[in-house]
Amino acid sequence: MSGETPRGDTSAAAEEPDERDLLQRAAAAGIHRLAIPTPFQVGRVNAYLIEDTPLTLIDSGPNSGKALDELEQALRVHGHGIEDIELLIVSHQHIDHIGLASIVARRSGAEVAALDLLAPYLSRFREQADLDDQFAQEIMLRHGIPGEVVTALRAVSASFRAWGAAVDVSRPLADGETIALANRTLRVLHRPGHSPSDTVFLDESRGILLAADHLIKHISSNPLLARPLGAAEEPPAQRPRALLDYIASLKLTREMELSLVLSGHGEPISDHVALIDERFRMHRRRAERIHGLIASQPRSAHEIAIELWGNVAVTQAFLTLSEVLGHVDLLLEEGRVAEREGAGGDEVVRFEAV
Ligand SMILES: [Zn+2]
Repeated sequence: MSGETPRGDTSAAAEEPDERDLLQRAAAAGIHRLAIPTPFQVGRVNAYLIEDTPLTLIDSGPNSGKALDELEQALRVHGHGIEDIELLIVSHQHIDHIGLASIVARRSGAEVAALDLLAPYLSRFREQADLDDQFAQEIMLRHGIPGEVVTALRAVSASFRAWGAAVDVSRPLADGETIALANRTLRVLHRPGHSPSDTVFLDESRGILLAADHLIKHISSNPLLARPLGAAEEPPAQRPRALLDYIASLKLTREMELSLVLSGHGEPISDHVALIDERFRMHRRRAERIHGLIASQPRSAHEIAIELWGNVAVTQAFLTLSEVLGHVDLLLEEGRVAEREGAGGDEVVRFEAV
């Protein structure tokens, strides 16, 4: 476990069908993966073209000329242009998924569909992203990340802002409703955890789940600390519990009968139950490791992150803080740790074993 970074969890998948077979299976169902470049560590983001009526695109890539160019090329391979898109579906609020949405919508006149709770966020993206940064800043300081690191990270986040863009949602989606296409229905399912707005789309007759970042084969989907959707400008009274939400969402997905899961990054998944079970085991191991650190002495979340990941806990302070607090939330829920404010003579929260 030592030196393992939050993004470093690989899945053991020995005898599964290979990527090409699975993509062909999706293509036979009229669903094509378009892998669009991003400037982020995660690498390419997957948009999906559904050849049906309306012609549908799920996600679109970040707001950049390079991403737009590659999106156009990828659509052309299938005989379409951006102007042909009739329905654009947004899976969740992260900029690598939403950045091009407004350009695609403007050039095509497509309807833009997203979870109803997400619509106000998308239409006021810049203001909402600023509130996200403010929220992140407060929570980082509260959990022991030094002020200069917090300031630096806020600047990094602001510099990423232009990769996102606001988009107006013309078709708000309710959790559980269906979107009818000529040759399929897509069931809309809210699965918060990785972000508060994660929405997955089930092609019901084929058992194909378009899962975006809810489930990714080669990395565990970081349950990032985030402001609850629709929250007022004041910070929420209680810390959002992203990992607990995420585990509850994964349990729902685990119960589904699926032939294929198409993710927001990387390869398709043919055995979602095995992958989800592996994620559950990983979260359990990480929670126990963190419990061991807290049992040896009271620590702040940032101190725990440094023990686990060294300098990565500084360069990726928010990501690693999200990981630690998520697992601490599991331990709090089990009554095995307690949260103490100001025990170190400062405002920083420390955790101790019960
Ligand atoms: Zn995401």
